Amino acid sequence: ARLLDGRRVVVTGAARERGIGRATAALFAAHGARVAILDLAGEAPQAAADVIGNGAIGVVADVTDAAACRTAIAEVVDAWGGVDVLVNNAGLTQRRGLLDVTAEDYELVSGVILKGTIQMSQAVLPHMPRGAASAIVNVSSLSALQGGGVFGGPHYCAAKAGVLGLTRAMAKEFGPQGIRVNAVAPGLTMTDFSRGANPDANKIEAGKAYPLGRPGRPDEMAQACLFLASEMSSYITGVTLDVNGGAFIH
Ligand code: NAD
Repeated sequence: ARLLDGRRVVVTGAARERGIGRATAALFAAHGARVAILDLAGEAPQAAADVIGNGAIGVVADVTDAAACRTAIAEVVDAWGGVDVLVNNAGLTQRRGLLDVTAEDYELVSGVILKGTIQMSQAVLPHMPRGAASAIVNVSSLSALQGGGVFGGPHYCAAKAGVLGLTRAMAKEFGPQGIRVNAVAPGLTMTDFSRGANPDANKIEAGKAYPLGRPGRPDEMAQACLFLASEMSSYITGVTLDVNGGAFIH
């Protein structure tokens, strides 16, 4: 069955070819959704949208910039009249020890992950139908729960943990209006997130220690996002869904 027929979806950080956001946009489109691919200009979101098809559009947006979030969403709303589903996926990481985290590092990482999630949600929520199966999915990380262990430094772990608190607060505030808000916490996933600093071979090696014996694939994170975005999870809000092959069981 097509789980998102006719739904208007925004996925942030969805242009990179091997990324979780891109896989999510592609899976959602296969399930009948119209998807807006938001990403930095350098990632060419329109080119990604052209590949995905099914009416997908690419929109340039830097989620650290509140005005840019509003402008991007205005463009989507102009085209489609509203947004039914938002996936806050944009992220980046830095490998650092705590004593090496500069003010700029903190601003960048928490600006994209935590402030970006708040700002994009603020831009979208006024255009999200009330009482009509609307949903927000925030992409957190295993790092938020385990204190690292995937790739990010402590400021990354803190921002991703912040996203979980934000998810719970938003679930409480918007549940009465028919909007569900949940988080996915991916474990180590085969993307280009580390920009080459953690090659695929290392990830495959690290994955051998997990109960399921391998790292995750972007399409497996996309499936978890699909579950939380669709009516399959109609009575679920405020949860964190671990998708980590058993790497962290708690
Ligand atoms: P990725 O680098 O392929 O995707 C991240 C995307 O976010 C990129 O397209 C990037 O351009 C975009 N982005 C970065 N800064 C942005 C900004 N300011 N505005 C808009 N877009 C911006 O990596 P990925 O692994 O697919 O990461 C997707 C999400 O999954 C991230 O939030 C990441 O923290 C999370 N995650 C990844 C892993 C992993 O092992 N790969 C594990 C846990 C969580």
